[in-house]
Amino acid sequence: DLAMYRAKSLGKGRFELYDPGMHELAASRLALENRLRRALHENEFVVHYQPIISLSEGGIVGVEALVRWRKSETELVYPDGFISVAEETGLILFLGMWVLREACSTMVRWHKEFPRTPELTVSINVSALQFAQNDFVQQVSKVLRETGIRPETVSLEITESVSMTNSEHTMTVLARLRALGVRISIDDFGTGYSSLAYLHRFQLDTLKIDRSFVAQLDDSKEGLHVVQSIMDLAQNLGLNVVAEGAENARHVAQLTAMGCEFAQGFYYSRPVEAGALSALLEEQGQQPNSIVA
Ligand code: C2E
Ligand code: MG
Ligand code: MG
Ligand code: MG
Repeated sequence: DLAMYRAKSLGKGRFELYDPGMHELAASRLALENRLRRALHENEFVVHYQPIISLSEGGIVGVEALVRWRKSETELVYPDGFISVAEETGLILFLGMWVLREACSTMVRWHKEFPRTPELTVSINVSALQFAQNDFVQQVSKVLRETGIRPETVSLEITESVSMTNSEHTMTVLARLRALGVRISIDDFGTGYSSLAYLHRFQLDTLKIDRSFVAQLDDSKEGLHVVQSIMDLAQNLGLNVVAEGAENARHVAQLTAMGCEFAQGFYYSRPVEAGALSALLEEQGQQPNSIVA
């Protein structure tokens, strides 16, 4: 499969095969692939957590788990720098399950330390390749069992491209995941191709409005209309809405005025290490009705 990977990176072996630029690219990708393999082996990945806020209550109701690569003492690599290669090489299958397990066991701890009703939720990103695995549902089930997390507090985030490519398969997998008790979110909603007909038939819980739309709240009425349309759609389908990328007080005010229930963004907190998230939860426990930012 290494040979296959090389051929693919080289553009199916046409003239590009002899293009030194392409060769360099392929070589550096291969180096990255090997380095990522080692990183997995040597436990260099870490999960950061970003709070999800209830706009009506003004507190943390859940977190999204976001993976980072602690490449060296001074280098922290963000997903942009490794997720696509991890996907192309299949490493995402291991990495994805590791993130799921890590995030679920951390949340089990937080459920004990910071009990609330309803319980804190944990959202985990699932890549298309993971979702396409025949044993994906079994793997999720195994992690739920082994960590002992209450499945209803787990939300799996899939993108529109994952959900729409093979709708029959998707529908079956989503139904089986829902049978386990976990929730399903559509991530980056509005940036891909969703068929409304399918959205209606899928068993979903949440639409996450992509941050590009929230950013447009700053400069146009159109941005406002897009966000409002997605919220109307969600309401008609009986789904929750989380607005991603709430960066300033104006975003929050506008989202709140539009009736958006949940938000996530730098205004409240960047994704932070588990310890720092604990501190935020601790602080919130002492002042139940305060904003965390
Ligand atoms: P995502 O799932 O849409 O995650 C939200 C991204 O938006 C995160 O970037 C987060 O740091 C960023 N973000 C949150 N609030 C704000 C804000 O107010 N302003 C701005 N400018 N950005 C904000 P991050 O952590 O770099 O992750 C990027 C993407 O990488 C994620 O997008 C997700 O698609 C992918 N990813 C991250 N962790 C995993 C993982 O464990 N598995 C998989 N398959 N993909 C992951
Ligand atoms: Mg996400
Ligand atoms: Mg997103
Ligand atoms: Mg994304």
